[in-house]
Amino acid sequence: MIIMKIQRRYCPFCRKHTEHTVEEAKKRPRRETSKGQRRFLRKLKGYGSFPKENPKGREKPTRKVDLRYLCKVCKKKHSIGKGFRIKKVEFKKLEQKLEKKSEQKTEAKSENKKQKLEKKLEQKTETKSENKK
Ligand SMILES: [Zn+2]
Repeated sequence: MIIMKIQRRYCPFCRKHTEHTVEEAKKRPRRETSKGQRRFLRKLKGYGSFPKENPKGREKPTRKVDLRYLCKVCKKKHSIGKGFRIKKVEFKKLEQKLEKKSEQKTEAKSENKKQKLEKKLEQKTETKSENKK
């Protein structure tokens, strides 16, 4: 799924629509001081099997994406819901700017080529004239 890198969205901090940059949330390690994690670590101590079994069945072909929206005005991040299942994440910037840049580049290249060709021709003619002398 293609997701636009810059979106116009509602910002709950500014209470109006502003431009946001979208990015995927980074994976961070679990904090060890939380209640559930403390219980889990206590259970891992000593003898006995692993307390949580691995889920059976096939692996899921999709995963949930956790998107974060960064407001450009107040520079605060927020998320929407719990995310949704997609196979692949692909961020895309606006096309118009890219097209303009590519056009400029091609024009510059063609100009450079023309100049080089002209220079070569000039050099050749000069060498020929020198040989004649
Ligand atoms: Zn904001």
